[in-house]
Amino acid sequence: MPAHSNLYPTKDLQARDAAHHIHPFTDTGALSREGSRIITHAEGVWLTDSDGNRYLDGMAGLWCSQVGHGRKEIVEAVHAQMSELDYYNTFFKTTHPPAIELAEKLAELTPPQFNRVFFVGSGSEANDTVFRMVRTYWDLMGEGERKVIIGRWNGYHGSTLAGTSLGGMKAMHSQGDLPVPGVHHIAQPYWFGEGGDMSPDEFGLWAARELERAIEEIGPEKVGAFIAEPVQGAGGVIIPPDTYWPEISRIVKKYNILLVADEVICGFGRLGTWFGSEYYGIEPDLMPIAKGLSSGYLPIGGVMVSDRVANAFIERGGEFFHGYTYSGHPACCAAAIANLEIMQREKLVERVASDIGPYLQAKWKALAEHPLVGEARMVGLVGALELVPAKGDRRKAFAPVGEVGTLCRDISFNNGLVMRAVRDSMIISPPLVLSHDEADILVERTQKTLDDTYQALKRDGRLAA
Ligand SMILES: *Cc1c(COP(=O)(O)O)cnc(C)c1O
Repeated sequence: MPAHSNLYPTKDLQARDAAHHIHPFTDTGALSREGSRIITHAEGVWLTDSDGNRYLDGMAGLWCSQVGHGRKEIVEAVHAQMSELDYYNTFFKTTHPPAIELAEKLAELTPPQFNRVFFVGSGSEANDTVFRMVRTYWDLMGEGERKVIIGRWNGYHGSTLAGTSLGGMKAMHSQGDLPVPGVHHIAQPYWFGEGGDMSPDEFGLWAARELERAIEEIGPEKVGAFIAEPVQGAGGVIIPPDTYWPEISRIVKKYNILLVADEVICGFGRLGTWFGSEYYGIEPDLMPIAKGLSSGYLPIGGVMVSDRVANAFIERGGEFFHGYTYSGHPACCAAAIANLEIMQREKLVERVASDIGPYLQAKWKALAEHPLVGEARMVGLVGALELVPAKGDRRKAFAPVGEVGTLCRDISFNNGLVMRAVRDSMIISPPLVLSHDEADILVERTQKTLDDTYQALKRDGRLAA
C-alpha cells in the first residue's frame, strides 16, 4: 500500500492538541514542548501518521486490536445497529437484542463455570465491579469479615480508584493516596528481575506461596479474593514460571477464597487459547474482560460471573446497586459480536496456537543472541525483550531504570515499528491477524532497533566493558 500523502497540517494540530487536551499516562509539560504523534489512518496491522509515515502496530493499539484495523464488517454492524436502536439502557429489568446475543455468545466461549456476564465500558470499570461484587458476595454468604482482596506488586488492573488499588503500580498509588483500605499486595512471579539465585521453577513456587503467607498473616477469615493477570501485561509481559499457577490454584482452593483472573489482555486469543485461564489450567470465579472483546472498535468490557458467585446474588441478593449508563451499549455489543464472529470464522485463536504464534516466537526468541538482550520471552503473541548492560548477568541493570527503554522505543518508532517500553524491557503484542511476512518485518525492525540502540549506548559509554 502506498504511504498516505501528508494531508494534515501536523504543526497546527499539535499546537491545538497541546492547548486543549490532557492526555492519559502522559507528562503534559513534556508533550507541550515536543508535540504529540498524530495517527490518522489504520488498516490491518499498519498505522499512518499525519506526516504520512507508516508503522507496524506491534502493540495492537493498546493490546486490543485482535482482528486488525479497518474491518468494514464491524463498521457496518455498528452502523446497522445504530440505525435500528442507537441507545437504550439495561437497568431496571430492560434489555435489547444485541446485549442478549453477546451475553449468550460469551457464556458459550468462556470456560464452563461462566454462564453470565455483567457489562461495563472498560477494563477499569470491570475491576471496580469486581471489587464491589467480591465484597457483596461475602456479605451475602454471611462471611462479611472477608473484605481483603490480595493483588500483586506491578500488577495492572486499570486506572480508576479500585483498579489502581488492586493493581500494584507504586507510581500510580502515589497519586491520590492509594490503595484504598482492604487491599494487600504480594510479590510478582518475575523471575528475570527478582528470582535471585533460585531456578525459575523454585522461584515460581516461592512467589505463589507468598499468597499463602499473606493469607495466614492477614487471617484466612478476612481474605475474600486474589486477583491476578494470567500473564502480566502492562507490568512488562511477565510470564510466570510453570510452577506458579498450579500452586496458586492449590492455595485459593485450600482457603476457599475467590480467584479473579484479569483477562483484559490475555482474553480473546492473546495466548493461543480463548482465555489465559485455559492456557494455565486455572478455574477463576470472576473474569474481567475488555480490550480484545471488541478489538477496540468501540469501548466495551464485562465481568464474567461464575455460577458460584451468580447463584449467591440470585438466591440471596436482592438488588445489586451497581451499573453504568453504558453497560451493554447496543452499538458496542454489535461491534463485539461482529469482532467475535470474525475471530471464529478466521480461526484466529487456533492460528495463534499453531501457526503465527510458534512462527513469531521462534524468531523472537532468537533475538536473545543480541548483545543488548538478557532474555527474550513470548507466549502466544505477547512478548518482551529484557535490555541489559552486561549480558549474562541478570543482576546488572541500567541506571536510572527506564532511560534505555525509552531511547529504544523512540528508535523503534523511527524504524517504523510500534513497541512499548516498560522499564528497560521492550514489549510487543501485535494483532492476531499478523501475516508471516509482517512477522518477518516486525523481527527485522526489532533487530535494527536493537542494533541502533546498542550503537548509541556504546557511543555514550553506557555498556559494560
Ligand atoms: C488495560 C487493562 C485494564 C484496564 O482496562 P481499561 O479499558 O484501560 O480501563 C485492566 N486490566 C488489565 C489486565 C489491563 O491490561
